[in-house]
Amino acid sequence: MNRDFYSKLVFELSQPGRKGYKLPDNHLPEVKLPENLRRTSELSLPEVDEPSVVRHYNNMSTNNFGVDTGFYPLGSCTMKYNPKINEEIAAHPSFVSLHPATPDKAVQGALELYYTLQCALSEIGGMAEFTLNPYAGAHGELTGLLVIRAYHNSRGDVKRTKVIVPDSAHGTNPASAAVAGLEIIEVKSRPDGTVDVEDLKPLLDDTVAAVMMTNPNTLGIFEKNIPEIASLVHAAGALLYYDGANLNPMLGMARPGDMGFDVMHINLHKTFSTPHGGGGPGAGPVGVRAGLEQFLPNPRVVKNQDGSFSVVTDGKSLGSISAHLGNFAVEARALSYILSLGRQGLKEAGKLATLNANYVKESLKDVYCLPIEGVCKHEFVFDGLADKSTGVTTLNVAKRLLDHGYHAPTIYFPLLFHESLMIEPTETESLQTLDEFIAVMRDIAREATETPDVVKNAPLNTPISHPDDTEAALHPIVNYTELTEL
Ligand SMILES: *Cc1c(COP(=O)(O)O)cnc(C)c1O
Repeated sequence: MNRDFYSKLVFELSQPGRKGYKLPDNHLPEVKLPENLRRTSELSLPEVDEPSVVRHYNNMSTNNFGVDTGFYPLGSCTMKYNPKINEEIAAHPSFVSLHPATPDKAVQGALELYYTLQCALSEIGGMAEFTLNPYAGAHGELTGLLVIRAYHNSRGDVKRTKVIVPDSAHGTNPASAAVAGLEIIEVKSRPDGTVDVEDLKPLLDDTVAAVMMTNPNTLGIFEKNIPEIASLVHAAGALLYYDGANLNPMLGMARPGDMGFDVMHINLHKTFSTPHGGGGPGAGPVGVRAGLEQFLPNPRVVKNQDGSFSVVTDGKSLGSISAHLGNFAVEARALSYILSLGRQGLKEAGKLATLNANYVKESLKDVYCLPIEGVCKHEFVFDGLADKSTGVTTLNVAKRLLDHGYHAPTIYFPLLFHESLMIEPTETESLQTLDEFIAVMRDIAREATETPDVVKNAPLNTPISHPDDTEAALHPIVNYTELTEL
């Protein structure tokens, strides 16, 4: 490991006797702790002066990579730029001090925000009602599947224990189905990347609770057979679930509700511009078509006849799935984003996301292997380099991109290809940024042929170069003692 100044721990900056604080005189009487609660050794705290602490944390913050520092084409994750006005709205003093136990009449503005966003998402998704309570996409999937189970149970249809999931699905789909206590059946994709309707037909019977689909799917391809799939699924008595984490290119162009989907989730932290990565916070609102509203989780926000808003619970609901009304700050950012873009702006965002992805794909497909030709939506997948003779892998390409100051695309997902390299530029990148990225990707392809070792040994200019993936996951170094033993 290259342990330069920037990756030093605050403990290593420590000098005995240094301090950057001054406590007021203590006039309180001393209280003796019982012997068994007292430390037996000195507390090991870093001793540092104020400038060192300030520099330490500022330097550490610049060791992070984020969409505010560079291009982040991480497929499936929609790492678009998040306008700063959203942050200002979310940080509004009246929002940050909200408490869930405040009486409704004292938080009308916050409830209106929730209600307005709920309506906006219903309009965007073509659904009857949304809950904003789930905390993430996967949490939304679980909530949606619980809604579906509550629906079947309410009709006494209790033998529906299976969920059909395409082989191209995001890993959270089968995981959520398993957590919901449902059995997962895989449906295959055709060579063109879309779900194989002929493979689906024999799987549909009266034991299927739902079919989960992603459209555009994780290959960035629009599933054109949805109307046929929807009627097959409904004829079998099952419901059709829409994984809406990939809604970005669809904004204002097509609505899952109109396609025949019954239940869907949206990732506010992808499509609706909340900064994400590193695990949150996020929000995975769930929408349902008319007739399923009563099963949505509690609590909900309703608009009363006099125009005021109330938090209510419903007896037929599946219950509560989060603390109160979800991640309010994420909801505030999403509404701010939707209102500041407006109807036309949202439509533009979806179209530009599609245009940018196709531009990058077409500019690189002679040097990277494009397994599925044709127009994609917001993202696409290469199957590694076109020249397979060099031994340079997708992992090597991704690592070499780090040397050029880019975040790597998603790699080895979806599992349909051996060398998947999944690129999603999003709509917020300029033509210049895309052209620079394309030039670097072409340089890497040339290096792979001319000087393959350079690519294989990348990255060369990052603090950590080649951690052993398995070792790093199994035995992460999480404390100072372990680090010093390296
Ligand atoms: C990101 C994503 C999810 C999961 O969302 P989380 O918020 O990470 O739980 C599900 N499906 C697809 C297609 C995704 O891209």
